[in-house]
Formats: sequence, C-alpha cells, structure tokens
Amino acid sequence: MSMNTTSAPAWYDLALCAQTGPSFFFPEPGSSLQDAKRLCGACEGRAACLEYALANDERFGVWGGLSEAERLALRPRA
Ligand code: SF4
Repeated sequence: MSMNTTSAPAWYDLALCAQTGPSFFFPEPGSSLQDAKRLCGACEGRAACLEYALANDERFGVWGGLSEAERLALRPRA
C-alpha cells in the first residue's frame, strides 16, 4: 500500500508496512506475495486496512493480507 501522510487514516499508525516502504507491497509482476502476506498476518491494523481497501476500491498491491484478486472475490457483484 502507499499513501501520503496527510491523508493517512488512523489505523495507519499500526501499519507494519509503513516501516518497510511501498515497494514491499507492490511486488514486481509475477513475484511472490507471500512475504507481504506474512507481514500483514502480524499487523495489528489488518482488519481496518482491509476494510479501507475495500471501501476505497484500492486495486493494486496487497492490503490487509489479500491480493488484488482475493479482494475482488470478496467484493459483492454490482
Ligand atoms: S495489513 Fe498489511 S498492508 Fe495493511 S497495514 Fe498491515 S502490513 Fe500494511
């Protein structure tokens, strides 16, 4: 994930990935997401992060431990 600090929501204080930098969560196409997902698994902000990503229709990268495709699967069909 990536966002500037002026618009960061409250849960971002808990975000483990804030310490690693955005490139960690936007892996090169075809590379493994497992490291990012493992970090999310230890993150206290995970639930809020996932909720935020779904609410804001974030398309790219890992959010709340889920890949783009996994989040899409959670999304209700319009
Ligand atoms: S759940 Fe993952 S993507 Fe979300 S804030 Fe935590 S470490 Fe970052």
